[in-house]
Amino acid sequence: MKVPLLDLAAQYRPLRAEVLAALERVLDSQRFILGPEVEALEKEVAAYCGVPFAVGVSSGTDALLASLMALGVGPGHSVITTPYSFFATAGVIARVGATPVFVDIDPETYNIDPAGLAAAIEQARPELRAVMPVHLFGQTAEMGEVMRLCSAHDLPVIEDAAQAIGAEYPLGGVPRRAGSIGALGCFSFFPSKNLGGLGDGGMVTTADEALAERLRRLRVHGSKPKYYHEIVGGNFRLDAIQAAALRVKLPRLDSWTAARMARADRYATLFEQAGLTTEAARVGLPQARHRAAGGHYHIYNQFVIRVPGQGRRDRLIEHLRRHEIGCEVYYPRPLHLQPCFAYLGYPEGSLPEAERAARETLALPVFPELSDAQQDWVVETIARFFIAERPSS
Ligand SMILES: *Cc1c(COP(=O)(O)O)cnc(C)c1O
Repeated sequence: MKVPLLDLAAQYRPLRAEVLAALERVLDSQRFILGPEVEALEKEVAAYCGVPFAVGVSSGTDALLASLMALGVGPGHSVITTPYSFFATAGVIARVGATPVFVDIDPETYNIDPAGLAAAIEQARPELRAVMPVHLFGQTAEMGEVMRLCSAHDLPVIEDAAQAIGAEYPLGGVPRRAGSIGALGCFSFFPSKNLGGLGDGGMVTTADEALAERLRRLRVHGSKPKYYHEIVGGNFRLDAIQAAALRVKLPRLDSWTAARMARADRYATLFEQAGLTTEAARVGLPQARHRAAGGHYHIYNQFVIRVPGQGRRDRLIEHLRRHEIGCEVYYPRPLHLQPCFAYLGYPEGSLPEAERAARETLALPVFPELSDAQQDWVVETIARFFIAERPSS
């Protein structure tokens, strides 16, 4: 049985007529850049995330880039982030001329470790201008601790929520959605995210009206009024076609999230039943830290397992590929060890948990349309791998 990592065609099939009607609406209007569809999506995403303002932009990367620009981060400044994320998180810091400062991750959640963050904040002053936690795989970073540390030092927090739209964190016991906690929240509508468009797109959320206004200006080359520039921005605009399609999908997002969470729970049961989670922890399952608080504690943009043992994760990948089961490593090389960041001077071994995660983790299929039979087959196939791996006695 073939099991893809993600099946966007299955998601599209029941939406086809509605998506096509939305596209037709845009085509008939011949308004392709920003405009009423984008404004409507901004309102809907702001309401969904529980923030007053949302600004549509061209991608998740540009959401992060424009956010740094809006905060005035540039040469001579530094920004703390995680080394275990998609490249854009650190890439944008370098692009504005600032220095990324990496803090190792919590090995259970793969998110930035608050203790390490506290130490780094003490060391990096006074050039430190912002902190950018990532809500990796769909689970929010430890935002209570992050906000406490950053507020104490007057540091703005930019949430990289590209993988976490709708994920919740119990801030002081009250569930708050990703992107509504820090000064700015950045989202991506890349097709493989939980809310994916028909191409590139992104959004920045904020409760700060002045920041929202600055972002709106930055996305049109900093102009206001048109052709008058007090600041330098870029072309970070969202297309009407993307907004129209996303508006068809957004009302379905919560039901998709519920399906992803149900798939994750079912994986946990199947892995346990197959005896894969015991015996020297052969397979480490994702840990949802605030599960007891209820709500969308983890929205499983990815279901990432940990497979310890010398080379074992890579042998499992080969086994799964041979059996046509989709899987992927997010991410095989942590950011501090990327050649383009060699100048930062982080040697191998300097951020051991990020490096270990890069060696040991593997994402399995977890999309809403994944069938029980497909899921059973994924776990059975993994179980057979471990039987074959067992040293003969
Ligand atoms: C996808 C992603 C981005 C970038 O989003 P794009 O829309 O692809 O530019 C940034 N950060 C994280 C954590 C992501 O997963």
